[in-house]
Amino acid sequence: MNKAELTTNIDGISVSPHNFINGRRVASKDCFEVRSPLDWTRKLAEVSRSDEAIAHDAVSAAVEGFKHWSSFSTSRRVEVLYRLADLIDANVAKISTIECLDMAMLHESLRLRVIPRGALNFRAYADLVAEHTERSWHSKGTANRVIRDAAGPAVVITPWNAPFMLATWKVAPALAAGNSVILKPAEWAPLSASMLADFINEAGFPEGAFNVVQGLGSEVGASLVADPRVRRISFTGSPATAQHIGVAAARNIVPFTAELGGKGPLIVFADADIDGAAKKAAAQFEDSGQVCLAGTRLLVERAVKQEFMDRFSSYTDQHVFGDSREPATTLSPAIHPIHLERVEGFVERARQAGDKIIFGGARYDPEKLWYKPTLIEPKSNQSEVVQKEIFGPVLTLQTFDSEEQAVELANSTAYGLSGIVYTSSSARASRIGRAVRAGTVWVNSFLIRDLSAPFGGYGISGIGREGGDYSLDFHSDLKTLQILEDSVS
Ligand code: NAP
Ligand code: MG
Repeated sequence: MNKAELTTNIDGISVSPHNFINGRRVASKDCFEVRSPLDWTRKLAEVSRSDEAIAHDAVSAAVEGFKHWSSFSTSRRVEVLYRLADLIDANVAKISTIECLDMAMLHESLRLRVIPRGALNFRAYADLVAEHTERSWHSKGTANRVIRDAAGPAVVITPWNAPFMLATWKVAPALAAGNSVILKPAEWAPLSASMLADFINEAGFPEGAFNVVQGLGSEVGASLVADPRVRRISFTGSPATAQHIGVAAARNIVPFTAELGGKGPLIVFADADIDGAAKKAAAQFEDSGQVCLAGTRLLVERAVKQEFMDRFSSYTDQHVFGDSREPATTLSPAIHPIHLERVEGFVERARQAGDKIIFGGARYDPEKLWYKPTLIEPKSNQSEVVQKEIFGPVLTLQTFDSEEQAVELANSTAYGLSGIVYTSSSARASRIGRAVRAGTVWVNSFLIRDLSAPFGGYGISGIGREGGDYSLDFHSDLKTLQILEDSVS
């Protein structure tokens, strides 16, 4: 197959919808179709539907690639990672265009925030490995040192929401630690991962250090995580998939991190900036609610419920639904008809169960994928819409009368990924921030991220932590080297 056959042209941008293994494009025998949520009649590409044999080849490439990449000096590794970050920055417009067509996130936020974060991820981990000093100490007549050894080939499996940013968030620490990587992106938004392979190729990584395998999770994803030559698995997605991957990881005794779903509370105390809280609550409808960290359960102190609702409804009314490429648009469509049907199923069951639909609860156009911002007042805290992640533009509203009740409600689901608290009291910020059981709690803000902080979930929201040194430790085999001091000179 020549090069032209291995790429496809999408709005003037050349993208390969195939695998990237050992520095080369490899097409699988079968393909699957990728469509644009902005216009479901538009086919974007035929993407390689890889099988077990391709998974095997990709791991073989990563085994060889690991030998070369892990032998690079830290300064040489840092140089290549920086070159990659620069290439991402130089191609933000192209990546944003493809990502927007593929999964419909707002083009403006992709271009200004989400795709540049991909470059930041590589720079942040390059800096961390460059600055790393081995921990060393003396005790009981011995000199001790903690050494990080690169672990081996790592499989990275990512979901369809913000796929480029989420892939780089996991690929960057794996590569910075010296591991080789096999990335399996989600079948509903696979194209930007393929673009990442082009930049990695250009940045000067050795062959096999980074590989992309396209295909279905239940097929090639399952083959990749089952391969005993893989030494790390880093996964972002749903708890149900994490259970399958966890079993495969256990069989091979492979360390595994999982960043999973959320059902975050957004708690508004009467002493808070109610307008700021209401504005942030209305912003939870953005990206069609397909944000794991979103504060989807609005918990509002009863005394300010009416004021909050007036402002929240008014901010929600200001949203503009439309094509995600238009700067005025604030509401994008759902990723896929199947996903939208799932969201509709939640709302329909809530309606039948007697939960109150305050607003929304329907598509803008029955033929298209945009769903109206929806607010539900549940009959009880046990309602399915309170307890299960919907991953759509659907929020619930509950009230509380005391701090204790707010915390009890906040901690009443099986999830624990994130929480948002609005209060003007610093003592309360600290009290509630500590009491909410979640991997990240924001007070009077949302989504401000420090890449050195640990990131992950309590409960069914995840296993392990990524971010900063936590990721680098995960991707390393840590060794304690102890030398009896008087025995050497
Ligand atoms: P998903 O269905 O779990 O899929 C995630 C990835 O796993 C996809 O690439 C999928 O491939 C693959 N996969 C499926 N079955 C597999 C198997 N048996 N073995 C190996 N890989 C397999 O999740 P999603 O629907 O794409 O994403 C939405 C979920 O991700 C939500 O729950 C959301 O909250 C969560 N999420 C969490 C975070 C976080 O940081 N905590 C961030 C973003 C999203 P296919 O695409 O082919 O199915
Ligand atoms: Mg798509």
